[in-house]
Amino acid sequence: MFLDVKELAVRKIRIRKSYIPGTLDFHSGEFRQVEPLEVRATAELMEGQIRVYGNLHTRVEMICARCLDTVVEEISRDFDLFYRPMTSIAEDEELHLNLDDTEVAFFEGDGLFLADVLAEQINLALPMKVICRADCRGLCAHCGANLNNEECRCEKNASDPRLAPLARLKQDWFKKQ
Ligand SMILES: [Zn+2]
Ligand SMILES: [Zn+2]
Repeated sequence: MFLDVKELAVRKIRIRKSYIPGTLDFHSGEFRQVEPLEVRATAELMEGQIRVYGNLHTRVEMICARCLDTVVEEISRDFDLFYRPMTSIAEDEELHLNLDDTEVAFFEGDGLFLADVLAEQINLALPMKVICRADCRGLCAHCGANLNNEECRCEKNASDPRLAPLARLKQDWFKKQ
């Protein structure tokens, strides 16, 4: 869906859309959309800027930061966004000066694609990292076993009689220090 500035100059556009997984490109390999993305929004022209406001909801699959298992996260976000025409930068000197410390977004040409707006909002709504459950035990740093599902054998190996000489060697070394 394209939000055309000439069309918005005439009337507001009410948006009610549902995007099934695979229809939007999020430009990210960090998550996977697993449920339709539901969008309720309004687009309008305000003082030459395109304003898009409303909310979105979906579910995405992410990777647990501890055990690398998949976790489903609910994504809900309200937004109220303003996009200035690209051509206004040169004309508006004050804006140019403050560009670094304001969150001004721009559109080029006749308008902007709703899909790009939504993809950005979803990326912003994602948590920095997720954990599958509060007591996730993660992976064994030595053998890589997922400690939520299996008992790793690293500890047993450490007391393996065949490794005893090595352990003694270590103890001796510590005594010398
Ligand atoms: Zn986990
Ligand atoms: Zn292990």
